[in-house]
Amino acid sequence: MNEPRAGLCAGCRHARRVESARASVFWLCELAKSDPRFRKYPALPVLSCPGFEPADHGTSGAAN
Ligand code: SF4
Repeated sequence: MNEPRAGLCAGCRHARRVESARASVFWLCELAKSDPRFRKYPALPVLSCPGFEPADHGTSGAAN
């Protein structure tokens, strides 16, 4: 599967990966819900972002 380059969003805890019916992949920024500085669908690739926080992969908790 091909993924568009998402830049920082791909590794950010605030990002949610969304697949469209046509198998396009988008990244939704959850910070946009509460902070108008962020776009719901950021223009990719995101190369620098003040809201970036590394995703916590693996250890505990439920993804999705
Ligand atoms: S905070 Fe920045 S890096 Fe994280 S999902 Fe939103 S736009 Fe992407």
